Amino acid sequence: MDPKETVAALEVKPEIANPLVQEVMERSGQPLLACYQCRRCAAGCPVGEETGFVTPDRLIRMINLGDREAALNNALVWQCVSCYTCGTRCPNDIMTGRITETLKKMAKEAHLEPLKPKVAFFHNTFVRSGLRWGRLNEGEFITLYELKIFLKDALRFRFKAIYNEIKSQIKLALSMMGRKRLHFGIQSSQGRREIKRLYKKSKAKRAS
Ligand code: SF4
Ligand code: SF4
Repeated sequence: MDPKETVAALEVKPEIANPLVQEVMERSGQPLLACYQCRRCAAGCPVGEETGFVTPDRLIRMINLGDREAALNNALVWQCVSCYTCGTRCPNDIMTGRITETLKKMAKEAHLEPLKPKVAFFHNTFVRSGLRWGRLNEGEFITLYELKIFLKDALRFRFKAIYNEIKSQIKLALSMMGRKRLHFGIQSSQGRREIKRLYKKSKAKRAS
């Protein structure tokens, strides 16, 4: 067989894929159809043991099979730490971290209850802070994030959870301050208008 024919047989053809694969490929920029399930990504994923059976290769399989419900509603989408180990190991350069980020946004747009509400709070607060200032301001970010957690627990009368959260955050804050890694001032990036403009543009594009 001519080697060129072999390459042609492995070409990704988004136009023949199911709508879910098309959407995720377009939004994440990742060639999901090139995945041949070798599982090299799964071997290096640091959160693989905490996500049940969902490893990067399996998440990609769900999408390629068109299982929207499973793809949008699983622990890896919320627990992925965007370390990109999967991408560095993948022979096809598939960055699952970009796929989980895309699925998070899609789950949010579909108004699905997040499997990990704290991660959803973290994500939303992070994005808003970035949009407001063009960069993250740790003091503002952590205050707003903790406020959301506090309100959620207070409305459910979960006082023990509030106590544990405060205790663990004070410990973390002291440790970060000891290393001069926590800053309370507000700084804005020169390009914040540009970031807002790009965000609005991508939102409008998705809505059209
Ligand atoms: S390493 Fe790449 S090709 Fe292999 S299973 Fe993971 S995503 Fe698919
Ligand atoms: S980027 Fe996410 S899916 Fe990939 S190895 Fe890291 S935690 Fe796992």
